[in-house]
Amino acid sequence: MRSLVLPEFTIFRSDECDGCRACEHQCPFGAHTYDASNDKMVSDSRRCAGCQRCAVFCPKGAIEIRPSPSFYRPNASWSRERIEDIKRQAESGGVLLTGCGSDKPFRIYWDHMLLNASQVTNPSIDPLREPMELRTFLGSKPERLLLGDDTDTGRDPFLMLETPILFSAMSYGAISYNAFQALAIAASRSGTFFNTGEGGMPAEMRSRFKKQTIVQVASGRFGIDAEYLNCAAAVEIKIGQGAKPGIGGHLPGEKVSQHVAATRMIPEGTDAISPAPHHDIYSIEDLEMLISAIKEVTNYEKPVIVKVAAVHNISAIASGIVRAGADILAIDGVRGGTGAAPKVIRDNVGIPIELAISSVDRRLRDEGIRERCSIIAGGGIRCSADVVKAIALGADAVYIGTAALIAMGCTLCQRCYTGRCSWGICTQDPELVRRLNLDDASQRLVNLLSAWSHEIKEMLGGMGINAIESLRGNRDQLRGVGLHEWELDVLGIKGAGE
Ligand code: SF4
Ligand code: SF4
Repeated sequence: MRSLVLPEFTIFRSDECDGCRACEHQCPFGAHTYDASNDKMVSDSRRCAGCQRCAVFCPKGAIEIRPSPSFYRPNASWSRERIEDIKRQAESGGVLLTGCGSDKPFRIYWDHMLLNASQVTNPSIDPLREPMELRTFLGSKPERLLLGDDTDTGRDPFLMLETPILFSAMSYGAISYNAFQALAIAASRSGTFFNTGEGGMPAEMRSRFKKQTIVQVASGRFGIDAEYLNCAAAVEIKIGQGAKPGIGGHLPGEKVSQHVAATRMIPEGTDAISPAPHHDIYSIEDLEMLISAIKEVTNYEKPVIVKVAAVHNISAIASGIVRAGADILAIDGVRGGTGAAPKVIRDNVGIPIELAISSVDRRLRDEGIRERCSIIAGGGIRCSADVVKAIALGADAVYIGTAALIAMGCTLCQRCYTGRCSWGICTQDPELVRRLNLDDASQRLVNLLSAWSHEIKEMLGGMGINAIESLRGNRDQLRGVGLHEWELDVLGIKGAGE
């Protein structure tokens, strides 16, 4: 059936093009071909995903990818997206899939909160000359101050991070082996952690990265056995994720290579389907049993994280999770990324992470259980200022996923679900995977964390704070701009000028 959808992008080729065919080699969607009869390159804009790979790698700088100037007759009720979604579904008869986080114009609360800075009476601190502490401990904290010999007894296991930023769960299978390894190397060099996601951990990586790994237990239970759980610094039970709350996952058989299959402990080439619920968790008591079982099998040496999507009753859900014995609660907001999700779920289910952090932190404080559990916030962290604001709202640390992919080369083309990622990140095609240089990718990630850490220190110093721990839940350092009264109320902050 011929597609009736207009091209999203238009490929422009200037006279500088000398027919070297680099663009043809770079485009995994077949948008560039060489016309031998006319001895020139030709482009098919209909195939273009807007990944910008050809534009970056054209040695002559001859290619420009622009949004297509073609349009449907403007209609206030029927946007271009609504018209094209209907056309695509009329052609396929199926659920529309997409990758990355939602691109809907939900209010980004980070951009409506401003930070404080010291003036006159409470002097700021110069981070270049005075020590600043970003070291962060995640896990259940003791209820009383431990002194002397007490510190050696009965202390719950914890994670120690040199900066309050972790790489969020991205499974091997959804991302390439090179991308997976780059995250592990960068976590190791930066004193933080990466997360295996639900795809298991390749056997040859286990001992090398054991101290930097968070292993995930998701509903599909791929690649999980006692050895896997013990090859980590922490274990995360994934109940939900921000990009697709309430539904399961699906890794198509084409992405299940021999190595992915061995890691996931499933047959090569078969679809890896994660059910929506864990079939052994239907209550807080069931969750408590799984947390206990994981602690038992890991000899009570590793903190257990429970990850949930930010949804309407998130503060009550968080309270139940803490009471079930989780050491760390990870909350993933509506703008969280993914390799593949139904578009209708990604764009319509969940709540922003900013509102979730604040309501959870305050509920746990009100119930007197905040110190039993650390909070990691994810799903929409784009820069160091977002990290600082998340911690001021009540998080202990943040997960970054999309930002890490962008650091490695991702251009947010949202075609991850096709398995044809031009940048070698979200693919299992050996030729495409080779495009992601391991040293280069891991160095970019290390640089990103280093840059953000410097910036966090600058912002802390400006507030006159010399340790990130002192910022946690310190909402007085935030003021809202352009927000309604109810939004200020949920965030627990004053308006600017108050
Ligand atoms: S899909 Fe990417 S590589 Fe292919 S033409 Fe479009 S921008 Fe270029
Ligand atoms: S990971 Fe690759 S396919 Fe996915 S959005 Fe980024 S560039 Fe596109």
